[in-house]
Amino acid sequence: MSSIELTEKTVLVTGGAGFLGSHLCDRLIADGRRVICLDDFSTGRHENIAHLIGHERFELIEHDVIHPIDLDVQEIYNLACPASPPQYQADPIKTNKTSVLGAINMLDLAHSKGARILQASTSEVYGDPEVHPQPEGYWGNVNPIGLRSCYDEGKRCAETLFFDYKRQLGVDIRVARIFNTYGPRMDAQDGRVVSNFIVQALLGEDITIYGYGSQTRSFCFVDDMIEGFVRLMNAPVTPEAPVNLGNEGEFTMLELAERVLNLTGANSNIVFLPLPSDDPTRRRPDTSSARHLLDWSAEIPLERGLASTVAYFAEQLGKSDTAVTRREAV
Ligand code: NAD
Ligand code: UDP
Repeated sequence: MSSIELTEKTVLVTGGAGFLGSHLCDRLIADGRRVICLDDFSTGRHENIAHLIGHERFELIEHDVIHPIDLDVQEIYNLACPASPPQYQADPIKTNKTSVLGAINMLDLAHSKGARILQASTSEVYGDPEVHPQPEGYWGNVNPIGLRSCYDEGKRCAETLFFDYKRQLGVDIRVARIFNTYGPRMDAQDGRVVSNFIVQALLGEDITIYGYGSQTRSFCFVDDMIEGFVRLMNAPVTPEAPVNLGNEGEFTMLELAERVLNLTGANSNIVFLPLPSDDPTRRRPDTSSARHLLDWSAEIPLERGLASTVAYFAEQLGKSDTAVTRREAV
């Protein structure tokens, strides 16, 4: 593809003011694209994209994806949806509408403009997995009526819609199943484990482990994830199935807490709180498809990604005297 074609493309990023969306907007602007960032600011923040306002190739539209919209675009990254469990459970009906109606509206837009569209799906489609690690062919183990279902089933229905629009209408789709991703610009208050532990450590508060801390997750640094999104969108051959994107390293929440305590040099206590219902006991991606189809794998180890995330929150909270920032200053 020539650089002129790349430059002329207008790319829509729904959820562009959120954690992942704002990093994606940065990447697309750096690549020379015209970017329309669409967001309703329900969980996203103006400060995530403040540095892009006024850029000649950046436009911000405040809009809710549950309502249709007509825009002249050639590519769509559909990221609009709350991702943190406390946030998506706060208004579960709206969460489901965002996934399902949002997918329909963005797929209709893609169909009418002949645009390629990428869906930000999730490892939550595997629920509490009985197959470990999780390959894309695993159909999952999801409670359809629990507290997490508004998110899990909404995202599963969105995947169904994506593949039906492809089969029935020939829409050019890509579906990324994103595993836990962390990094700068996470919202300190949104309740996810990485931001919670780092903020608690920096403020000298108790580290809150839900359950015994033996549940596992695989944490991917945001830069790796954005590279995966862009490679999936630009893959010349449309993958036949969703593609897992994540880091294959697997850690218990106790191990994560220990690493955060080491990096921050904090002497916070660890406290154990009740485990939320349907909390998956383990999660690790099988990323062989991404390696094979996209020549992609996550490269940034947890220690390095956490150090950069700690430095971000330390600056946000005005706590420069952490073990990480002391090491960086030497
Ligand atoms: P985030 O909450 O920071 O970003 C979501 C963005 O979508 C926010 O800016 C929010 O204001 C916007 N939004 C929500 N509902 C909307 C609506 N109805 N209309 C318009 N905008 C709306 O979360 P994130 O971590 O950046 O996640 C982005 C996407 O990636 C989500 O679709 C999420 O499900 C998916 N995902 C993220 C992770 C992760 O670990 N970060 C893992 C799996 C999937
Ligand atoms: N968790 C925890 N303490 C917290 C926040 C979360 O122990 O303060 C646990 C949570 O129960 C889950 C894991 O950390 O087992 C990951 O939680 P997160 O909300 O980040 O992501 P998800 O559950 O969606 O994978």
